[in-house]
Order: sequence, then C-alpha cells, then structure tokens
Amino acid sequence: MSQTSSSSSTTVTLPSGKTAIVEIRRSSRARRVTLRITPGTGQAELVLPGRLSEKKGIAFLHDKTDWLEERLAKYPDPIPFEDGQIVPFLDDPLTIRHLNAKRADVHIDGNQLIVAAPVACISKAVQDWYRREAGCEITLCAKQKSKILGTPYGRLTIRDTKSRWGSCSAKGDLNFSWRVVMAPSYVLDYLVAHEVAHLTEMNHSTSFWNIVKNLSDEYEKGRNWLRLKGHELHRYGVELPARENRESE
Ligand SMILES: [Zn+2]
Repeated sequence: MSQTSSSSSTTVTLPSGKTAIVEIRRSSRARRVTLRITPGTGQAELVLPGRLSEKKGIAFLHDKTDWLEERLAKYPDPIPFEDGQIVPFLDDPLTIRHLNAKRADVHIDGNQLIVAAPVACISKAVQDWYRREAGCEITLCAKQKSKILGTPYGRLTIRDTKSRWGSCSAKGDLNFSWRVVMAPSYVLDYLVAHEVAHLTEMNHSTSFWNIVKNLSDEYEKGRNWLRLKGHELHRYGVELPARENRESE
C-alpha cells in the first residue's frame, strides 16, 4: 500500500482491483481507529486516535477492504476531470477538451471546456476554474438579493465544503461550496436566497421562508433538487491516484 503526496489521504486497492481514496483524520477524542463512509458524499475516512501510528491505521484499513468495497458499491463511481468527460455547469453540460500546455488556461468554447494545462494539472485547473466561476456567479446573485433585502453581507467565501452547501455567519459573512455552480441555475439562485435571507432571519421560521420565497422564484424546486441530487455533485473532480502510486503486490 502506498500513500499519495498528501499526508491527509491514502489510496487502497479493493478486492475487485478498483482503487479507493481514503482520507485520514487525526482525532484526539477518538478512542480507537475507525473506518467510516461519510453519508451523502460516499467519501471513505480513516479516523486515527492521537497516539496510534499512521502505519497501524493503514494496516487496519488494509484488513477492512472487503467491508470498504461493499459499502462504496452503494455510491456511484467518482467522475474525474479529464479529457472527454462531460461535466455539469449551471444549465448546460460541458465536454472537457484537454490541450497540452505549460501554463493552465481554462475557458468555455461553445459546449466545450477547453483546458490547456500539463496533463498532471487538468483536475486542479478545472477545479480552479469552477471556483472562479462560482465566485463570479454567486457574488453577482448575492449582491442582487441583498440589495432587494436591503441588508448588505460581509465577506463572501467560496469553499469545498462536504457537509453544507452554504452558510451565513452571525457577522453576516456568507460561505458557499463551489460545487453548487455545477447544479442548475435555479438551485444556485435558491441557495443564495437562503443564505442571504439569514442576514435578517437567523433561523428557519415561517418569516425566514417567506423572505426566501420573495428572493427566489423557484426556491422549492431548488431546495428539492439539493435534497435529492445534491450529493451527486461530490462525485466530480475526485483526483485519481497516479498509476505509479498504486499498490503493487
Ligand atoms: Zn439555513
């Protein structure tokens, strides 16, 4: 078993020969080593108690590959950002077209996403592009909605959050997952309306939902989409380990 360059994740070969990426997290509160699957995202996570060596944790993981494969089979396969892959972007899917180049440059051309970058950097280049686009789209939308509401927001940050699509802090700062830019535009519209509405209503009361309704025409449709299909957005852009990093026996 080998580790990827990141110290916070490792790859493991499953009984079928497939490779799984497992995140490694240290927890001072954990009593024993645990392997778990995050509901929704299907991300495997190995939790190590403070004192346990990573080597022992990895050995534990190696013993649990049958269990891991069985559990992961319930989740759809990850979709990497690579040449020829069709990826969602608001209301129109794009096909990734890779061009070899020393410097990354990503742009839309018709229904293609042209990714000029070294092969090893495609995934990062595409994700950076999504983040920038998410920043532009969400900021534009948040500005409009906070203007309608008459309450300005503080800072707006784009993150790669696993458990929530957006949040609004007590200080009025807004946070969003870049992945929402892969959802239809009415979903993004609803999510931004939801967080902006929290600028005046820090709860989910009837008056909160009335504000959301006023700020987003298709809020119910957007809300349902996130509930039913939101987890699928976590499939995209998972970096597959390089071949030389794979386990060999
Ligand atoms: Zn909320």
